[in-house]
Amino acid sequence: ASGGIGKGPVICSAICGNPYAGLVSHLRAAWLSGKTRPMEYRMAQLEALGRFLDEKKQDILDATALDMGKPSFEAYFTEILLCKNNLNDTLNNLSHWMKDEYVDKNLVTQLDSAFIRKDPYGVVLIIGPWNYPIHLLLVPLIGAIAAGNCVVVKPSETSKNTERLVAEMLTCYLDNDCFAVVTAGVQETTRLLENKFDYIFFTGSPSVGRIVMTAAAKHLTPITLELGGKNPCYVSDTCDVQNVARRVAWGRFFNAGQTCIAPDYVLCSLEMQEKLMPALREAITEFFGPNPQESPDFGRIVGDKQFRRIRALLCSGRVAIGGQTDEKERYIAPTVLADVLPSDPAMQEEIFGPILPIVVVADMDEAIDFINARPQPLAIYAFSCDSKVVKQVLERTSSGGFCGNDTLMHVTLTSLPFGGIGSSGLGMYHGKFTFDTFTHRRSCLHRNMGLEALNSLRYPPYSQQKLGL
Ligand code: NAD
Repeated sequence: ASGGIGKGPVICSAICGNPYAGLVSHLRAAWLSGKTRPMEYRMAQLEALGRFLDEKKQDILDATALDMGKPSFEAYFTEILLCKNNLNDTLNNLSHWMKDEYVDKNLVTQLDSAFIRKDPYGVVLIIGPWNYPIHLLLVPLIGAIAAGNCVVVKPSETSKNTERLVAEMLTCYLDNDCFAVVTAGVQETTRLLENKFDYIFFTGSPSVGRIVMTAAAKHLTPITLELGGKNPCYVSDTCDVQNVARRVAWGRFFNAGQTCIAPDYVLCSLEMQEKLMPALREAITEFFGPNPQESPDFGRIVGDKQFRRIRALLCSGRVAIGGQTDEKERYIAPTVLADVLPSDPAMQEEIFGPILPIVVVADMDEAIDFINARPQPLAIYAFSCDSKVVKQVLERTSSGGFCGNDTLMHVTLTSLPFGGIGSSGLGMYHGKFTFDTFTHRRSCLHRNMGLEALNSLRYPPYSQQKLGL
């Protein structure tokens, strides 16, 4: 379905050979008309988005199951429930968030009005990845609509069933004058990015993030980059091993490991590695039964290319749990690799699959040095019964987010900003932070026309006397 423009405004394309110029100028005209500015309009569009989630729930579960065997519980939780949390938070607070913010004044502006206006940017572009194909389009879209923008949404072509659903169904709920879905592969997205947008919100890999940032730079377009990387998970010697194993296994094997904030590898002592192994085996069996391939609660890899890339990482260290693969089904068993070396293939790239390498370190200090010697990750996890250890890891490292004694759960709070730092991303969103992302804080001073005598102090001819000297 690549290269199309979802049901929406009729476009006179091919303007100057730019297939998307017509679409962008149509949306720009709608934005300039002021249609998206009133709060009632924004609320109505957001409510329509809520109806899309309610009425197309089964279609969403079916499409994500077809794309990557996403278990329906996981799909419901991440693609629907978390979107609705963000939506409800926005609907409940929008009138408050939109309000002008009045600020302090100086002596000469006492009779004036000084405030920050929450302005929309204009026409914005949202590019999504395939792993949470609804969530990672809709959560930014909620903020973009709430902030009063017109939006082009570009789902990933890799999750093709969900891409089709978004193109065919989402557009039926939204005002097509102001919101459009573009289905596009790499070539078409390159052309789309030639157009001037007023804001670009990109979720995907760091390498494509660079391409998007370069395209945005041509128009000096501000951007958010939600990227990935390798998220370390430090497990100290003092902890409840069974609980740690369940929480780490859940985070690693959720969505078959295809989660940007999944714990990518464990750092622990040799002694802890020995204790963790049976506990992880038990947790995996508890979750998925003796044969995870038969479990309805364990997903599949999204595509053949991704399957082959992940399978090639299995040669790292020693396979302690799992390791089975089935190319026809794109199945990779929940796998734990022991004694993995920093130079092994699994430690050279983000795994983004159901493989958990364990790298042995001497102690917490070595784990912190290991983390700090690498790019700042999207998330860091630290497990310990001693809260001082968790606090030390937090204190002495840097990452987009942090969660002590669990994995992934920080993402469920709309009150926490979500985003990366360094090569894991730029900018943040969720809840009010998404509204802020798509809002230009316009500084405004509305002066009183009186008190001209006071103003004349700054007009020429100047004098020492006017400076009070
Ligand atoms: P990707 O970068 O390959 O693709 C993301 C989007 O970019 C897709 O819509 C794709 O069509 C488009 N794209 C791909 N190549 C392009 C190009 N050359 N020019 C313009 N657009 C292009 O990423 P992916 O494989 O879909 O997702 C996996 C990556 O995304 C992982 O690195 C993961 O960590 C990251 N991710 C980050 C978050 C986050 O919230 N930070 C969430 C999910 C995934």
